[in-house]
Amino acid sequence: MSVTGTLYIVSAPSGAGKSSLIKALLEQTQGNALQVSVSHTTRDPRPGEVNGQHYHFVGKAEFQQMIAQDDFFEWAEVFGNFYGTSKKAIEASLAQGIDVFLDIDWQGARQVKQLMPASKGIFILPPSREALEQRLQNRGQDSDDVIAKRMAEAQSEMSHYNEYDFLIINDDFEQAVAEFGAIIQGQRLNTERQSALHHVSLAQLLA
Ligand code: 5GP
Repeated sequence: MSVTGTLYIVSAPSGAGKSSLIKALLEQTQGNALQVSVSHTTRDPRPGEVNGQHYHFVGKAEFQQMIAQDDFFEWAEVFGNFYGTSKKAIEASLAQGIDVFLDIDWQGARQVKQLMPASKGIFILPPSREALEQRLQNRGQDSDDVIAKRMAEAQSEMSHYNEYDFLIINDDFEQAVAEFGAIIQGQRLNTERQSALHHVSLAQLLA
C-alpha cells in the first residue's frame, strides 16, 4: 500500500517568524520527506530572492493564463499582488509520500481545506502586539506609515487564526521549532499511515 504525504498549510502575519521556523524545521529533519512548495507570484523579487527558489516570479499576463488553464491548486490576491500554488508544485510530491508545506495566506488556506479536507492548517502568532511591532521595525529603515500599514495587514491575517487546526505562539524560538516538529511527527504516527508503512510486520504480528 502506498502512503501519500500530508499537505500542511502554514500561515502567519508578516513578522511572526514563519520563514525562520520553516527553515529550522527543514534543517532539523534534514528535509526528510518534507518540502516547501514554491509559489508563483506577480510581485517583484526582493533583494536576495531567487527565481524558482523563493518564488516563480511571473508577469500578470502569465499568471492570468495559468488561471485560465486551470494550472493552480489555489490562488489569491494578497495586498495587491497575485500569489498561487500550482498543481505541479504539490501533486507529484504528495503522491510520492512527501509532506508538503504551503506558505500561503488565509484565503488560500480556505481553498485548500475545501479541496483537500485531510490537509492540516498551522497558524503562527507572535506573543504580543508589541513584539510584532518590534519585529517589523527591526526589519529595516521603514517609515512609521509603512510600519502602520504592515501592522494593519498583520491584524487582518491574524483575525483568521481560528480557522486552522494548530496554533503555535512564537515567543521562544526553540520551543516553537520543537512544537512545529511535534505536529509533523504526530501526524506521521497516525494509524492509517503507520499501518500502510508497516503492513508487512503488522500482518506477521497478527498472523
Ligand atoms: P510575501 O510577498 O511577503 O512573500 O507574501 C505575502 C503573503 O502572501 C504571505 O502571507 C504569504 O503567505 C502569501 N502567499 C505566498 N504564496 C502564496 C500562494 O501561493 N498562495 C496564497 N494564497 N498566498 C501566498
